[in-house]
Amino acid sequence: MVVMILTYCYRIKPSAEQEATMCYTLERLRRHWNYCLGQRLDCLRITRCQIDRCSLISEPIGEIPAQVNYYTQQSALKETKKLFPDYKNIWSESQQVNLQRLNKAWERWLIPDKSGKRGGRPRFKKVGELRSFVYPRVNCQRAGAHLKNGILKLSKIGEMPIIMHRPIPDGFTLHTCTIVQKADGWYCCFVIQDETVPEPMPLDEIHSAVGVDVGLKEFLTTSDGKTVPIQQTYRKTQSHLVRQQRKLARKKAGSKRAEKQKNFIARIHQRIGRIRENFHYNTAHKLVKQYDLIAVEDLNIRGLARTRLSKSILDAAWGKFINILEAVAVKRGVRIVAVNPHGTSQNCSNCGVKVPKTLSVRLHECHICGITLDRDENAAINILNRALSVSEAGRSPVGLILPARGGLVSGLPAKRELPSREWVQLSLF
Ligand SMILES: [Zn+2]
Repeated sequence: MVVMILTYCYRIKPSAEQEATMCYTLERLRRHWNYCLGQRLDCLRITRCQIDRCSLISEPIGEIPAQVNYYTQQSALKETKKLFPDYKNIWSESQQVNLQRLNKAWERWLIPDKSGKRGGRPRFKKVGELRSFVYPRVNCQRAGAHLKNGILKLSKIGEMPIIMHRPIPDGFTLHTCTIVQKADGWYCCFVIQDETVPEPMPLDEIHSAVGVDVGLKEFLTTSDGKTVPIQQTYRKTQSHLVRQQRKLARKKAGSKRAEKQKNFIARIHQRIGRIRENFHYNTAHKLVKQYDLIAVEDLNIRGLARTRLSKSILDAAWGKFINILEAVAVKRGVRIVAVNPHGTSQNCSNCGVKVPKTLSVRLHECHICGITLDRDENAAINILNRALSVSEAGRSPVGLILPARGGLVSGLPAKRELPSREWVQLSLF
Protein backbone atom coordinates (compact mmCIF):
# COMPACT_ATOMS: atom_id res chain seq x y z
CA MET A 1 0.00 0.00 0.00
CA VAL A 2 1.24 3.44 -0.80
CA VAL A 3 0.82 6.11 1.80
CA MET A 4 2.00 9.65 2.06
CA ILE A 5 3.74 10.52 5.29
CA LEU A 6 4.52 14.15 5.98
CA THR A 7 6.00 15.96 8.92
CA TYR A 8 4.55 19.33 9.83
CA CYS A 9 6.35 21.37 12.45
CA TYR A 10 4.82 24.16 14.50
CA ARG A 11 6.19 26.47 17.10
CA ILE A 12 4.75 26.08 20.58
CA LYS A 13 4.67 28.59 23.38
CA PRO A 14 5.11 26.84 26.72
CA SER A 15 5.04 28.82 29.95
CA ALA A 16 8.24 29.11 31.96
CA GLU A 17 7.02 26.39 34.24
CA GLN A 18 6.16 24.06 31.39
CA GLU A 19 9.49 24.75 29.80
CA ALA A 20 11.21 23.68 33.00
CA THR A 21 9.15 20.48 33.04
CA MET A 22 10.09 19.73 29.44
CA CYS A 23 13.80 20.30 30.09
CA TYR A 24 13.49 18.06 33.09
CA THR A 25 11.79 15.37 31.01
CA LEU A 26 14.57 15.52 28.43
CA GLU A 27 17.22 15.22 31.14
CA ARG A 28 15.53 12.20 32.75
CA LEU A 29 15.10 10.48 29.40
CA ARG A 30 18.73 11.14 28.59
CA ARG A 31 19.87 9.50 31.80
CA HIS A 32 17.61 6.55 31.16
CA TRP A 33 19.02 6.21 27.64
CA ASN A 34 22.55 6.15 29.00
CA TYR A 35 21.66 3.63 31.67
CA CYS A 36 19.98 1.29 29.21
CA LEU A 37 22.77 1.62 26.67
CA GLY A 38 25.26 0.76 29.40
CA GLN A 39 23.19 -2.27 30.31
CA ARG A 40 23.23 -3.50 26.72
CA LEU A 41 26.95 -2.91 26.26
CA ASP A 42 27.75 -4.71 29.53
CA CYS A 43 25.69 -7.65 28.47
CA LEU A 44 27.51 -7.78 25.16
CA ARG A 45 30.91 -7.48 26.77
CA ILE A 46 30.33 -10.27 29.26
CA THR A 47 28.81 -12.77 26.90
CA ARG A 48 31.03 -12.34 23.84
CA CYS A 49 34.68 -12.52 23.09
CA GLN A 50 36.51 -11.99 19.84
CA ILE A 51 37.19 -15.04 17.72
CA ASP A 52 40.95 -14.97 18.21
CA ARG A 53 40.91 -14.16 21.94
CA CYS A 54 40.43 -17.38 23.81
CA SER A 55 42.60 -18.51 26.65
CA LEU A 56 44.19 -21.95 26.36
CA ILE A 57 43.74 -23.23 29.88
CA SER A 58 40.50 -22.09 31.35
CA GLU A 59 37.63 -19.80 30.58
CA PRO A 60 36.12 -17.95 33.54
CA ILE A 61 32.47 -17.70 32.72
CA GLY A 62 30.89 -16.48 35.92
CA GLU A 63 27.27 -15.65 36.05
CA ILE A 64 25.73 -15.34 32.67
CA PRO A 65 23.56 -12.24 32.83
CA ALA A 66 19.98 -12.31 31.71
CA GLN A 67 19.46 -11.27 28.13
CA VAL A 68 18.87 -7.58 27.61
CA ASN A 69 16.63 -6.40 24.82
CA TYR A 70 13.83 -3.95 24.25
CA TYR A 71 11.26 -6.10 26.00
CA THR A 72 13.24 -6.60 29.18
CA GLN A 73 14.07 -2.92 29.28
CA GLN A 74 10.49 -1.91 28.75
CA SER A 75 9.19 -4.15 31.48
CA ALA A 76 11.91 -2.78 33.77
CA LEU A 77 10.30 0.65 33.42
CA LYS A 78 7.91 -0.26 36.22
CA GLU A 79 10.81 -0.94 38.54
CA THR A 80 12.48 2.29 37.49
CA LYS A 81 9.42 4.24 38.49
CA LYS A 82 9.44 2.60 41.90
CA LEU A 83 13.12 3.30 42.50
CA PHE A 84 13.11 6.77 40.98
CA PRO A 85 9.72 8.39 41.50
CA ASP A 86 10.83 11.21 39.18
CA TYR A 87 9.99 9.00 36.27
CA LYS A 88 6.36 8.90 37.30
CA ASN A 89 6.14 12.48 36.07
CA ILE A 90 6.97 11.52 32.50
CA TRP A 91 4.36 10.19 30.09
CA SER A 92 4.98 6.46 29.96
CA GLU A 93 4.68 6.18 26.17
CA SER A 94 7.41 8.79 25.79
CA GLN A 95 9.66 6.60 27.89
CA GLN A 96 8.84 3.61 25.74
CA VAL A 97 9.62 5.48 22.54
CA ASN A 98 12.90 6.55 24.08
CA LEU A 99 13.75 2.87 24.54
CA GLN A 100 12.53 2.07 21.03
CA ARG A 101 14.88 4.69 19.65
CA LEU A 102 17.75 3.08 21.52
CA ASN A 103 16.72 -0.32 20.22
CA LYS A 104 16.66 1.00 16.67
CA ALA A 105 20.14 2.52 17.02
CA TRP A 106 21.33 -0.73 18.56
CA GLU A 107 20.01 -2.86 15.73
CA ARG A 108 21.43 -0.51 13.13
CA TRP A 109 24.78 -1.07 14.76
CA LEU A 110 24.66 -4.85 15.05
CA ILE A 111 22.53 -5.96 12.13
CA PRO A 112 23.76 -5.05 8.65
CA ASP A 113 21.19 -3.82 6.13
CA LYS A 114 20.62 -5.17 2.64
CA SER A 115 23.84 -3.71 1.27
CA GLY A 116 25.83 -5.01 4.24
CA LYS A 117 26.29 -1.62 5.87
CA ARG A 118 25.98 -1.03 9.57
CA GLY A 119 25.59 2.09 11.63
CA GLY A 120 28.02 3.29 14.29
CA ARG A 121 27.83 2.27 17.89
CA PRO A 122 25.06 4.09 19.76
CA ARG A 123 26.58 6.78 21.90
CA PHE A 124 26.17 7.89 25.43
CA LYS A 125 24.49 11.26 25.40
CA LYS A 126 26.03 14.24 27.14
CA VAL A 127 24.00 16.84 28.99
CA GLY A 128 21.68 18.56 26.54
CA GLU A 129 22.28 16.11 23.70
CA LEU A 130 18.83 14.60 23.85
CA ARG A 131 16.66 17.26 22.35
CA SER A 132 13.34 15.64 21.67
CA PHE A 133 10.75 13.30 23.08
CA VAL A 134 7.73 11.71 21.48
CA TYR A 135 4.06 11.28 22.15
CA PRO A 136 3.27 8.37 19.86
CA ARG A 137 -0.47 8.92 19.76
CA VAL A 138 -2.38 12.11 19.12
CA ASN A 139 -6.06 12.99 19.31
CA CYS A 140 -7.37 9.57 20.17
CA GLN A 141 -8.56 7.89 23.31
CA ARG A 142 -5.86 7.64 25.94
CA ALA A 143 -3.48 9.60 23.75
CA GLY A 144 -0.81 11.63 25.46
CA ALA A 145 -1.18 14.62 23.17
CA HIS A 146 -4.30 16.45 22.02
CA LEU A 147 -4.48 19.17 19.44
CA LYS A 148 -7.61 21.28 19.39
CA ASN A 149 -8.32 24.84 18.32
CA GLY A 150 -4.74 26.01 18.45
CA ILE A 151 -4.08 24.51 21.87
CA LEU A 152 -1.73 21.60 22.36
CA LYS A 153 -2.44 19.56 25.46
CA LEU A 154 0.39 17.33 26.59
CA SER A 155 -0.06 14.86 29.38
CA LYS A 156 2.17 15.51 32.41
CA ILE A 157 3.09 18.92 31.00
CA GLY A 158 -0.05 20.91 30.38
CA GLU A 159 -1.84 23.01 27.79
CA MET A 160 0.05 25.48 25.66
CA PRO A 161 -0.67 27.63 22.62
CA ILE A 162 0.56 26.32 19.29
CA ILE A 163 1.16 28.58 16.32
CA MET A 164 -0.66 27.00 13.39
CA HIS A 165 1.04 28.95 10.63
CA ARG A 166 -0.43 26.46 8.19
CA PRO A 167 -3.37 24.16 8.68
CA ILE A 168 -3.01 20.41 8.72
CA PRO A 169 -4.28 19.35 5.29
CA ASP A 170 -7.66 17.65 4.98
CA GLY A 171 -7.80 13.90 5.05
CA PHE A 172 -4.61 13.44 6.98
CA THR A 173 -4.57 11.66 10.30
CA LEU A 174 -2.22 12.73 13.06
CA HIS A 175 0.15 9.99 14.07
CA THR A 176 2.86 11.09 16.41
CA CYS A 177 3.81 14.31 18.10
CA THR A 178 7.46 15.02 18.77
CA ILE A 179 8.46 17.86 21.05
CA VAL A 180 11.79 19.33 19.99
CA GLN A 181 13.99 21.88 21.65
CA LYS A 182 15.74 23.99 19.05
CA ALA A 183 18.08 26.93 19.35
CA ASP A 184 15.26 29.45 19.05
CA GLY A 185 12.65 27.74 21.16
CA TRP A 186 10.32 24.77 21.33
CA TYR A 187 8.64 23.08 18.40
CA CYS A 188 6.21 20.28 17.99
CA CYS A 189 6.34 18.11 14.88
CA PHE A 190 3.37 16.05 13.82
CA VAL A 191 3.79 13.05 11.61
CA ILE A 192 0.67 13.00 9.49
CA GLN A 193 -0.44 10.32 7.10
CA ASP A 194 -2.79 10.04 4.18
CA GLU A 195 -3.70 7.07 2.04
CA THR A 196 -4.25 9.01 -1.17
CA VAL A 197 -1.06 9.66 -3.03
CA PRO A 198 -1.37 11.31 -6.42
CA GLU A 199 -0.75 8.69 -9.09
CA PRO A 200 2.40 9.34 -11.03
CA MET A 201 1.58 10.81 -14.40
CA PRO A 202 0.87 8.15 -17.04
CA LEU A 203 3.79 7.82 -19.41
CA ASP A 204 1.80 8.76 -22.48
CA GLU A 205 0.78 12.05 -20.88
CA ILE A 206 4.32 13.23 -20.34
CA HIS A 207 4.79 16.28 -22.51
CA SER A 208 7.95 17.80 -21.24
CA ALA A 209 11.06 16.23 -19.82
CA VAL A 210 14.20 17.80 -18.53
CA GLY A 211 17.63 16.68 -17.43
CA VAL A 212 19.24 18.38 -14.46
CA ASP A 213 22.95 18.57 -13.80
CA VAL A 214 24.13 19.89 -10.48
CA GLY A 215 27.48 21.57 -10.22
CA LEU A 216 29.67 23.96 -8.35
CA LYS A 217 29.61 26.81 -10.82
CA GLU A 218 25.85 26.90 -11.15
CA PHE A 219 23.62 25.21 -8.64
CA LEU A 220 21.93 23.41 -11.48
CA THR A 221 21.82 23.48 -15.24
CA THR A 222 18.89 22.09 -17.19
CA SER A 223 19.09 20.36 -20.53
CA ASP A 224 17.42 23.34 -22.20
CA GLY A 225 20.20 25.62 -21.07
CA LYS A 226 18.64 27.34 -18.09
CA THR A 227 20.70 27.81 -14.96
CA VAL A 228 20.02 28.46 -11.31
CA PRO A 229 22.91 30.25 -9.60
CA ILE A 230 24.47 28.75 -6.54
CA GLN A 231 23.84 30.20 -3.10
CA GLN A 232 26.85 29.96 -0.89
CA THR A 233 25.02 30.54 2.33
CA TYR A 234 27.63 28.99 4.56
CA ARG A 235 30.54 30.59 2.75
CA LYS A 236 28.96 33.99 3.07
CA THR A 237 28.43 33.77 6.80
CA GLN A 238 31.69 31.98 7.49
CA SER A 239 33.67 35.00 8.65
CA HIS A 240 30.78 36.06 10.87
CA LEU A 241 30.68 32.57 12.35
CA VAL A 242 34.42 32.52 12.95
CA ARG A 243 34.21 35.79 14.84
CA GLN A 244 31.39 34.51 17.02
CA GLN A 245 33.20 31.22 17.67
CA ARG A 246 36.24 33.16 18.82
CA LYS A 247 34.03 35.14 21.19
CA LEU A 248 32.76 31.88 22.62
CA ALA A 249 36.28 30.57 23.13
CA ARG A 250 37.11 33.61 25.25
CA LYS A 251 34.24 32.98 27.63
CA LYS A 252 34.48 30.73 30.66
CA ALA A 253 33.23 27.25 29.81
CA GLY A 254 29.90 26.49 31.37
CA SER A 255 29.19 30.07 32.37
CA LYS A 256 25.96 31.90 31.64
CA ARG A 257 27.66 34.08 29.04
CA ALA A 258 29.17 31.09 27.29
CA GLU A 259 25.75 29.44 27.15
CA LYS A 260 24.28 32.58 25.67
CA GLN A 261 26.99 32.81 23.04
CA LYS A 262 26.58 29.12 22.20
CA ASN A 263 22.92 29.68 21.61
CA PHE A 264 23.69 32.66 19.41
CA ILE A 265 25.97 30.50 17.24
CA ALA A 266 23.39 27.74 17.11
CA ARG A 267 20.90 30.29 15.80
CA ILE A 268 23.28 31.33 13.03
CA HIS A 269 23.54 27.71 11.96
CA GLN A 270 19.79 27.39 12.12
CA ARG A 271 19.36 30.43 9.92
CA ILE A 272 21.84 29.11 7.36
CA GLY A 273 19.95 25.83 7.27
CA ARG A 274 16.64 27.53 6.81
CA ILE A 275 17.83 29.80 4.02
CA ARG A 276 19.25 26.80 2.20
CA GLU A 277 16.13 24.75 2.66
CA ASN A 278 13.92 27.56 1.46
CA PHE A 279 16.07 27.91 -1.63
CA HIS A 280 15.80 24.17 -2.28
CA TYR A 281 12.03 24.19 -2.00
CA ASN A 282 11.69 27.19 -4.29
CA THR A 283 13.93 25.63 -6.92
CA ALA A 284 12.19 22.27 -6.66
CA HIS A 285 8.74 23.81 -7.05
CA LYS A 286 9.85 25.80 -10.08
CA LEU A 287 11.13 22.67 -11.80
CA VAL A 288 8.16 20.52 -10.89
CA LYS A 289 5.71 23.12 -12.14
CA GLN A 290 7.45 23.29 -15.51
CA TYR A 291 8.14 19.68 -16.38
CA ASP A 292 6.43 16.29 -16.26
CA LEU A 293 9.58 14.25 -15.99
CA ILE A 294 12.83 15.25 -14.36
CA ALA A 295 16.04 13.29 -14.75
CA VAL A 296 18.72 13.69 -12.11
CA GLU A 297 22.08 12.17 -11.35
CA ASP A 298 22.35 9.41 -8.82
CA LEU A 299 25.10 11.15 -6.88
CA ASN A 300 27.60 9.78 -4.47
CA ILE A 301 27.62 12.80 -2.19
CA ARG A 302 29.67 11.12 0.50
CA GLY A 303 32.44 10.32 -1.93
CA LEU A 304 32.41 13.83 -3.33
CA ALA A 305 32.34 15.44 0.09
CA ARG A 306 35.69 13.87 0.95
CA THR A 307 37.48 15.84 -1.75
CA ARG A 308 38.99 19.28 -1.53
CA LEU A 309 35.79 20.92 -2.62
CA SER A 310 33.92 19.41 0.30
CA LYS A 311 32.82 22.64 1.91
CA SER A 312 31.26 23.94 -1.25
CA ILE A 313 29.68 20.59 -1.97
CA LEU A 314 28.14 20.28 1.45
CA ASP A 315 27.09 23.90 1.26
CA ALA A 316 25.19 23.30 -1.94
CA ALA A 317 23.60 20.23 -0.31
CA TRP A 318 22.50 18.57 -3.54
CA GLY A 319 21.60 15.39 -1.76
CA LYS A 320 19.06 17.22 0.34
CA PHE A 321 17.86 19.07 -2.71
CA ILE A 322 17.25 15.88 -4.62
CA ASN A 323 15.30 14.44 -1.69
CA ILE A 324 13.18 17.58 -1.55
CA LEU A 325 12.72 17.53 -5.32
CA GLU A 326 11.53 13.94 -5.13
CA ALA A 327 9.08 14.71 -2.38
CA VAL A 328 7.70 17.79 -4.11
CA ALA A 329 7.38 15.83 -7.35
CA VAL A 330 5.49 12.95 -5.75
CA LYS A 331 2.93 15.37 -4.37
CA ARG A 332 2.24 16.58 -7.89
CA GLY A 333 2.54 13.25 -9.65
CA VAL A 334 5.65 14.33 -11.54
CA ARG A 335 8.21 11.63 -12.26
CA ILE A 336 11.80 11.77 -11.08
CA VAL A 337 14.34 9.45 -12.66
CA ALA A 338 17.79 9.02 -11.16
CA VAL A 339 20.44 7.88 -13.62
CA ASN A 340 23.97 6.63 -13.30
CA PRO A 341 26.09 9.77 -13.70
CA HIS A 342 29.13 7.91 -15.02
CA GLY A 343 30.60 9.82 -17.97
CA THR A 344 27.76 12.31 -18.32
CA SER A 345 30.11 15.27 -18.29
CA GLN A 346 32.69 13.69 -20.60
CA ASN A 347 30.60 12.24 -23.38
CA CYS A 348 29.24 14.31 -26.23
CA SER A 349 25.50 14.68 -26.01
CA ASN A 350 25.18 14.91 -29.76
CA CYS A 351 27.26 12.03 -31.09
CA GLY A 352 28.22 10.11 -27.97
CA VAL A 353 31.95 10.26 -28.40
CA LYS A 354 34.11 10.77 -25.33
CA VAL A 355 35.55 14.27 -24.99
CA PRO A 356 37.85 14.21 -21.95
CA LYS A 357 38.07 17.44 -19.99
CA THR A 358 39.11 18.55 -16.53
CA LEU A 359 36.84 20.38 -14.09
CA SER A 360 38.22 23.76 -15.13
CA VAL A 361 37.18 23.38 -18.75
CA ARG A 362 33.79 25.04 -18.85
CA LEU A 363 33.01 24.48 -22.53
CA HIS A 364 32.20 21.26 -24.31
CA GLU A 365 33.69 21.26 -27.79
CA CYS A 366 33.25 18.07 -29.76
CA HIS A 367 35.94 17.40 -32.35
CA ILE A 368 33.82 14.83 -34.19
CA CYS A 369 30.51 16.57 -34.76
CA GLY A 370 31.76 20.08 -33.97
CA ILE A 371 29.08 20.97 -31.47
CA THR A 372 29.91 23.60 -28.86
CA LEU A 373 27.93 23.69 -25.66
CA ASP A 374 28.25 24.74 -22.06
CA ARG A 375 29.83 21.91 -20.12
CA ASP A 376 26.98 21.54 -17.64
CA GLU A 377 24.31 21.82 -20.31
CA ASN A 378 25.99 18.98 -22.19
CA ALA A 379 25.92 16.88 -19.02
CA ALA A 380 22.26 17.71 -18.42
CA ILE A 381 21.35 16.60 -21.95
CA ASN A 382 23.27 13.37 -21.37
CA ILE A 383 21.36 12.79 -18.15
CA LEU A 384 18.05 13.34 -19.88
CA ASN A 385 19.01 11.04 -22.74
CA ARG A 386 20.07 8.38 -20.34
CA ALA A 387 16.78 8.59 -18.48
CA LEU A 388 14.82 8.32 -21.69
CA SER A 389 16.86 5.80 -23.62
CA VAL A 390 15.98 2.17 -23.84
CA SER A 391 19.42 1.19 -24.97
CA GLU A 392 20.83 0.71 -21.50
CA ALA A 393 19.39 -2.68 -20.84
CA GLY A 394 17.78 -3.10 -17.49
CA ARG A 395 18.86 0.24 -16.13
CA SER A 396 16.52 2.49 -17.98
CA PRO A 397 13.45 3.16 -15.90
CA VAL A 398 11.41 4.80 -18.62
CA GLY A 399 10.90 3.36 -22.05
CA LEU A 400 9.88 6.59 -23.75
CA ILE A 401 11.54 7.64 -26.93
CA LEU A 402 11.94 11.38 -26.85
CA PRO A 403 14.22 13.59 -28.83
CA ALA A 404 16.97 15.08 -26.75
CA ARG A 405 15.39 18.48 -26.59
CA GLY A 406 11.76 19.50 -26.57
CA GLY A 407 8.59 17.83 -27.77
CA LEU A 408 7.20 14.39 -27.45
CA VAL A 409 7.36 11.78 -30.17
CA SER A 410 4.33 9.63 -30.42
CA GLY A 411 5.33 6.07 -29.87
CA LEU A 412 4.30 3.48 -27.41
CA PRO A 413 6.41 3.21 -24.34
CA ALA A 414 8.40 0.03 -24.39
CA LYS A 415 8.53 -0.41 -20.70
CA ARG A 416 6.11 0.90 -18.15
CA GLU A 417 7.82 -0.12 -14.96
CA LEU A 418 9.08 2.56 -12.65
CA PRO A 419 10.78 1.73 -9.41
CA SER A 420 7.83 2.12 -7.12
CA ARG A 421 8.29 3.80 -3.79
CA GLU A 422 6.39 2.33 -0.93
CA TRP A 423 6.17 5.58 0.92
CA VAL A 424 7.51 9.08 0.74
CA GLN A 425 8.47 11.33 3.53
CA LEU A 426 9.27 15.00 3.60
CA SER A 427 9.54 17.70 6.17
CA LEU A 428 7.73 20.97 5.81
CA PHE A 429 8.20 23.96 8.01
ZN1 LIG B 1 29.94 15.14 -30.80
